Amino acid sequence: MSKIEVYQEELDGIVRTGVRVHDRHATLKDLLEAWQPLCDDTALYKYYGHNHGSICKGCTTNCCDTAYVIPDLIAFKHMKAYLGISYADFIRDYFQVEKVKRGLLRMLPEPCIFLQERICTIYPLRSLICRFYLCTSLIGDTEQLIYDITWTGITATRIFAEQHNLIDSPLSGGYTSFDLMFTNLIEEYRHHPQVQYFMQADNYADIPLAPFIKAED
Ligand code: SF4
Ligand code: SF4
Repeated sequence: MSKIEVYQEELDGIVRTGVRVHDRHATLKDLLEAWQPLCDDTALYKYYGHNHGSICKGCTTNCCDTAYVIPDLIAFKHMKAYLGISYADFIRDYFQVEKVKRGLLRMLPEPCIFLQERICTIYPLRSLICRFYLCTSLIGDTEQLIYDITWTGITATRIFAEQHNLIDSPLSGGYTSFDLMFTNLIEEYRHHPQVQYFMQADNYADIPLAPFIKAED
């Protein structure tokens, strides 16, 4: 049996996708490898995909046009290394300045700075928020799991940026409702012990899944 099982079940007339973790030593890399084929699965119902059954690659109603992408710390470090520039230059040239001033490391959007001819030019390095997003219905536990992992990784990026003096103290005004929601999420996750796994990791293989999985009641 594989470490991670992707499965589907019908609930209230809607087919939902979820994952089960069968190996307590499974890592985030294992989860991402199990998840990736869903992006290319034409049998998966995708709300915004062409005819609801297209692969994500080349999608013309691409979520990359509008996404509010804040990279997790692994992606943040890998993208910077790929570009071969300093963190300061990376933030200056690839992030939205008015969001950075408010402590939110949002990549330049509409469309995303890395989208060219409907294709992500850094696909193997893209952020967790990009890897996990699928315009399909998910099973609740799975949705919560990927949400927790993603926001833990994003919070680690904020803490890393603070520790390395890459962002100034955030301005107090001019926040949109999304900015406020994301700021509050980062503050909520800041004290989660799982953040340390991202702070200490070089790759997704270094991050265990077990601490993110809630025990059954
Ligand atoms: S997840 Fe994004 S890229 Fe994939 S089909 Fe939906 S809108 Fe298109
Ligand atoms: S990094 Fe790539 S996958 Fe993520 S929003 Fe940008 S173009 Fe899309």
